Amino acid sequence: MDKKPVVSTEPLTGDQPIPAWQPPRVEATASRGASPQVEQALADVRRKIYPRAVSGIFARWRIIMVFFTQIIFYGLPWLEWGGRQAVLFDLGARKFYIFGMVLWPQDVVYLAVLLVLSALSLFLFTAIAGRLFCGYACPQTVYTEIFMWVERKIEGDRLARIRLDEQPLSFRKFRLKAAKHTVWVLIAFWTGFTFIGYFAPIRELGAGLLALSLGPWQWFWMVFYAFATWGNAGFMREAVCKYMCPYARFQSVMVDDDTFVVTYDHVRGEPRGGRSRRIDHKEAGMGDCVDCSLCVQVCPTGIDIRDGLQYMCIGCGACVDACDQVMDKMDYPKGLIRYTSGSAITERLSQTQARKRVFRPRVLFYIGLLVVITAGFLYALVVRETLKVDVIRDRGALGREVAGGLIENVYRLQVMNTSEAPLTLQLRADGLPGLSIALAENAQRSYFYVDGSANRLVPVIVRAPAGQVQPGMHDISIIVSDLNPEIAPHNVTEKTSFYVPQ
Ligand code: SF4
Ligand code: SF4
Repeated sequence: MDKKPVVSTEPLTGDQPIPAWQPPRVEATASRGASPQVEQALADVRRKIYPRAVSGIFARWRIIMVFFTQIIFYGLPWLEWGGRQAVLFDLGARKFYIFGMVLWPQDVVYLAVLLVLSALSLFLFTAIAGRLFCGYACPQTVYTEIFMWVERKIEGDRLARIRLDEQPLSFRKFRLKAAKHTVWVLIAFWTGFTFIGYFAPIRELGAGLLALSLGPWQWFWMVFYAFATWGNAGFMREAVCKYMCPYARFQSVMVDDDTFVVTYDHVRGEPRGGRSRRIDHKEAGMGDCVDCSLCVQVCPTGIDIRDGLQYMCIGCGACVDACDQVMDKMDYPKGLIRYTSGSAITERLSQTQARKRVFRPRVLFYIGLLVVITAGFLYALVVRETLKVDVIRDRGALGREVAGGLIENVYRLQVMNTSEAPLTLQLRADGLPGLSIALAENAQRSYFYVDGSANRLVPVIVRAPAGQVQPGMHDISIIVSDLNPEIAPHNVTEKTSFYVPQ
């Protein structure tokens, strides 16, 4: 195997011919006895990619997105709201706290709608701009970016890392690798700890961690998530995007010729080849691509965008930044690789013309659907009744006659207060003449109290004057309303039946 780096990492200079492109290095050995296709696939999976650092506008955007997403991820569980953790998916208590909102298992439909909205947004962004999510916000990309930054700081850039990996084990190599893995493991554990902090109060979790007194499941999930972060961002990297991510496979059905994706302008770039800056390459019959391979060296998935759009491309724009630097040095216009559409390349459209084509029927349909579902979702959230009442008839004791010439039926009310404010609730019964309702524990009282974010079983008795109602089953309503309607105007009516014996 060739032990030298395949491409120079020296800056491009005007007078030197630029070296011809060579394929990215493949460091893999195929399994003996496997078929050529399997050998190729295994070689591909085990190939180690050494992406070169790049600067430029898209690199800056990736850094901004890393900060943006991670400040939210690591910071949100520490945020307090109304005296408790602002975002907490308390699986034990089966309640989801999201700022001022408390979602119960009955509200799972809201989470389902949120998932539908997320999926629709992904379809919309993919139809407009390909895999933007993958390149800038996907956790796999973001953590790989963080882990690669640590790797670069400790082991050096591409060439230094290749050399280090090729060296036999020495004290220096051991020290660098140990330092890198220590930082990686710390980040991975902090990520695992933060992740479970969304499902259990993070301050208690932190105290439990310091005292080494976490429960077995808390240890398991923290170690599992940390291990997954360390493995995926440290080792699997682009293999996750290429072979494990389903989105990579079905994105092709969501993009078309008018989708903005990272594209090599082959009309402008070909025929490619090394040349001196001094020659007029157009006169020499050459395109703008100087075949320097920098776009391949910076690619985190190790592909050559000049071969056309590939499902392995995560749309990160690193090759755009790299190529723009080369174009600058050659005094050629930037944008040989750029975010544009396939039709803009083949029909030679300007960026403005290409942008106008973005708003095609499919995109307008996604936008319309998103607006309608989002509006409906917000409306449903605003008018959501936070008081839920379920009336259960006492099957053991149907109607019976009691003192005072009254027929009595017994019910149990399952009352759920899904808001955070405590409620004092008034009972009423309606549907038959002379109907009255009171608490079973105190026949003089027809109101009761429920804590915020709590549910309560309330036995009640409903009475009607005997003789005024025909024997048999009658439909009645039990109304539960707020004692202070001006504060929280809850008013829930539940239907049930009232039995009058012969
Ligand atoms: S081809 Fe370019 S945009 Fe696609 S993954 Fe590689 S560097 Fe990123
Ligand atoms: S497309 Fe740009 S970066 Fe890639 S080889 Fe050609 S000139 Fe170099």
